[in-house]
Amino acid sequence: MSVASPNNTAAFMADLKAKNAAEPEFHQAVHEVVESLEDFLNEHPKYRHARILERIVEPERVIMFRIPWVNDKGIMCVNRGYRIEMNSAIGPYKGGLRFHPTVTLGVLKFLAFEQVFKNSLTTLPMGGGKGGSDFDPKGKSDNEVMRFCQSFMTELYRHIGPNTDIPAGDIGVGGREIGFLFGQYKRIRNEFTGVLTGKGLNWGGSLIRPEATGYGNVYFAREMLKTKNEDFDGKKILVSGSGNVAQYTVQKVTQLGGKVITLSDSSGYILDPDGIDDKKLEYVMHLKNNKRGRIEEYAKKYGVSYFKNKRPWSEKGDIALPSATQNEIDEADALALIANGCICVSEGANMPSSPEAIHVFIKNKILFGPGKAANAGGVAVSGLEMTQNSMRLSWTREEIDERLQAIMRQIHSTCCSYGKNENGFINYINGANIGGFVKVADAMMAQGAV
Ligand code: GLU
Repeated sequence: MSVASPNNTAAFMADLKAKNAAEPEFHQAVHEVVESLEDFLNEHPKYRHARILERIVEPERVIMFRIPWVNDKGIMCVNRGYRIEMNSAIGPYKGGLRFHPTVTLGVLKFLAFEQVFKNSLTTLPMGGGKGGSDFDPKGKSDNEVMRFCQSFMTELYRHIGPNTDIPAGDIGVGGREIGFLFGQYKRIRNEFTGVLTGKGLNWGGSLIRPEATGYGNVYFAREMLKTKNEDFDGKKILVSGSGNVAQYTVQKVTQLGGKVITLSDSSGYILDPDGIDDKKLEYVMHLKNNKRGRIEEYAKKYGVSYFKNKRPWSEKGDIALPSATQNEIDEADALALIANGCICVSEGANMPSSPEAIHVFIKNKILFGPGKAANAGGVAVSGLEMTQNSMRLSWTREEIDERLQAIMRQIHSTCCSYGKNENGFINYINGANIGGFVKVADAMMAQGAV
């Protein structure tokens, strides 16, 4: 006799919290999904009987390791490394590496959990994983970052592979780090394979990969806006962050006729009422990607306002594209956005809106695109990078951009089919969670006790 899992979100969450203590971000991510799935699972009891929920929140494997490295002063340092291999029902584990002092087991479990649903939504055959370290790249020399990456890979290499687990970048891990990691993997394994994505263009990387998360989020928001006969043209946009996602968000919004007026980093935000045009964006890219400086310098260079230790959500904008990090929009921020007439929030970052903020957006029936749908363009083009590596050829920019746009349209329509309410309102959270779940759950059912 099969045992049905509790069809009660509170009981399920109480169990999860007891078993995974001190992991608030993981609890938050799971709660959102379980809440979305409640009615759907009641209508389809086979998933409860097969204990899919209980299985899907349990990582297939967690790897945790020591990363010793020597800094430029000759001092021995030690960080902690992780790889969460969350779910491989529909493909090899796939997901980024985050290097940031806030990284903990719980943060990476939330990210790996999100990744499972996100990757499923892309339509490509990728399971979910995530990894990283509490290493802080800020203020480190290139040589220190290289030694750290080499030490990280000296352990990680034995757990990954092009058909097993394919890491990529995330916060603190960009082209420079992927290069160092790839070089070390290749030395140890003595093989040149597509084991990482986000590689350089002349050593297996894909065109449009750096642009993909930001472009993808704008394409997704464009689809949402279309349902209201709206577009980006002439709109004022609030963007947070100033890294990879934010940069290419600004570029695409500008191409579509919108005006981005804010950018931020962990120290504060800048407000540029004239808009961040291509020339200014070039400056931001140099500042952040080469000089590795602070966004405050933008305010000095262009004579605009800088708000120390503040987030941009109290500014007046039509659309908000949070592209920094988790829980960067709280309830008060969400209320400020609504009061200022914001019609659309589309998440370039992973889980940037708190549950209370999401509640405000849904209650006010604005267009709200959750990260696992809206920012899936990055990992989608990573999937296309894997395809190109397997075929040992490269597609053109146009071809990849075409495919990216088609994937974002497909994700949008999946959200609509699973998230449309009787009154016509599209709840994109329910749509993304149910749409992402079904494919993985069905694969798990087909594969037996996995
Ligand atoms: N870190 C990105 C994400 O959150 C990309 C992962 C990848 O390309 O594997 O989806």
